[in-house]
Amino acid sequence: SKPTVAIVGRPNVGKSTIFNRIVGGRTAIVEDRPGVTRDRLYGNGTWLDHEFHVIDTGGIDIGDEPLLMQMKAQAEIAIEESDVILFIVDGKTGLTEADEEVARILRRSQKPVVLGVNKLDNTKIRDQKYEFYSLGLGDPYGISGAHGLGLGDLLDQVIKDF
Ligand code: GDP
Ligand code: MG
Repeated sequence: SKPTVAIVGRPNVGKSTIFNRIVGGRTAIVEDRPGVTRDRLYGNGTWLDHEFHVIDTGGIDIGDEPLLMQMKAQAEIAIEESDVILFIVDGKTGLTEADEEVARILRRSQKPVVLGVNKLDNTKIRDQKYEFYSLGLGDPYGISGAHGLGLGDLLDQVIKDF
């Protein structure tokens, strides 16, 4: 069956934006309560000749836990459910302790991880990806989900790990 890619990362780093870029097409949005739209959780992606399932773990409702607990739970789900983990961080905000905590869990898992440094919208801030080398997850890929930049190189790396 198709491999599964799970997207992990802190709230607001751009997971849903990247998910929508990868999955594309029509959005089947689930209404949670009136006036509130929830992010899609599952989709199908295609890159080159590869088809895969995509999970946006940010859309998984794991209750009212503190941020770090939620992030750990999402990382654990991603490790269990996926073949490759797409770990997204915010290159504008820079490295945070929560990123380091998640990276620690992902490194221990031995699952392939591709690190996307999002919100690098222009060449002036392109070098801000380098500080994320310290996460110990290999080469950081500078991307802009909003502008659709760098996603081809990122997905090349994802499918290499299938
Ligand atoms: P999520 O909480 O991780 O799912 O993040 P979202 O995809 O909902 O995005 C959070 C915010 O970041 C939104 O306001 C997006 O428009 C914005 N955003 C997402 N990707 C980018 C990007 O590449 N560049 C910039 N500047 N903003 C982005
Ligand atoms: Mg989201």
